[in-house]
Amino acid sequence: MQKKIYSLLLISILTLSAFASQERKVLIIGIDGTRSDALQQANTPNIDALIANGLFTYDAWHCGITVSGPSWSTIMTGVWWNKHGVTSNTYTGSNYTDYPYFPTLAKQLLPNLHCVQVTEWAPMSDNVYNDGWDLKLKTPDGDGAATAAVASTQLATDSLDCMFVYFDAVDLTGHSSGFSPTNPSYIQAIENVDDKVGIVLNALYARPNYANENWLVLVITDHGGIGTGHGGITFEERHIWWVASGKDVTHQQITAADPGTYNLLGSGIFNQSGVNQTLLKSSPVQADIAITALHHLIYETGIQPETYPFWVGLDGKSWLSVFNGVDNVAKEDNIKVLPNPSNGITTFWFENEQKQNVTIEVFDMLGRNVKSFANLEAGNSANIDLSGIDCGSYIAKVKIGAQTLTRKIQVQY
Ligand SMILES: [Zn+2]
Repeated sequence: MQKKIYSLLLISILTLSAFASQERKVLIIGIDGTRSDALQQANTPNIDALIANGLFTYDAWHCGITVSGPSWSTIMTGVWWNKHGVTSNTYTGSNYTDYPYFPTLAKQLLPNLHCVQVTEWAPMSDNVYNDGWDLKLKTPDGDGAATAAVASTQLATDSLDCMFVYFDAVDLTGHSSGFSPTNPSYIQAIENVDDKVGIVLNALYARPNYANENWLVLVITDHGGIGTGHGGITFEERHIWWVASGKDVTHQQITAADPGTYNLLGSGIFNQSGVNQTLLKSSPVQADIAITALHHLIYETGIQPETYPFWVGLDGKSWLSVFNGVDNVAKEDNIKVLPNPSNGITTFWFENEQKQNVTIEVFDMLGRNVKSFANLEAGNSANIDLSGIDCGSYIAKVKIGAQTLTRKIQVQY
């Protein structure tokens, strides 16, 4: 039974890769050693522009070892260090065979993906194998201008599907003069890298086919810092951030509590007791980046990375449904849908005391918009006609002014 499902799945995937062009693409920009509070203080117009249209968090959490090797390995594999095995910058003990970088996983479904890494940091370029990059380009450490130029050249190639661009200057400055928002050199280093991020983004927007492509841009750091170092479990080292921007991404800030750390007992001992598993599931953490990027790339296959039987053991979670505004499970009580299941005419009840404009959009479980109803009467209820769409489960997004409520609905004739 299960086998049959997989072979059907495989056929549809093969059909997809043979006939559909890959329009979903991913750009990850990594800025090493950038504290959340320092990023917020620095003048970063290019990152701010992504934030203005995207989803962002200044409260992402590092739950593992706050050293670059283990951190970037978690960001790229979607698992914590007890699985990918990297506990230091020597990368000794790495297990990328069982837990490869996300491009390797994506290529299991979409073998023709073209993936490129541009990094300033030699260990990541030299010590990582089975990582799925078709091309690894190394630029001089701390030379953001060179990195931005090389990345821009790659972005001009039509075949590019996935790229990771890495900047080291902020971390280098932190080590020389202090990881602190009160250190002007550290702030200046962040602003300089933001400038280079702008160059990379301009190259992205200048792609000849950009209008027909669906890029997910993720900007992230690997860890913070305290004094002139990092590697410990302080708030300053573990409090990080990320930004997601793209055509599917709605503007929203995520705030989240610290789930704790897997590293309370030091490297070599995997200690789950330091982590609140409930918070880990809801908070943005480092292991989510790979899963989110992977999910975006393989989205058309309909496969959820977290539940795909061949990828058991991934620790991170995809934020794609949140990007589409369908995360607000807790808000479901604020909206009533009758009848549900619906056989056509459906009534939504909600609070709308300020009589704001109401829009209702209906998405299928792959996130495709199947119906939209704009400029509905600004009352506390709305009747919409869903007759004609296929039977099945859908997500209704009800926008009331600036607020979005979501509700799962069923259509049944
Ligand atoms: Zn460092």
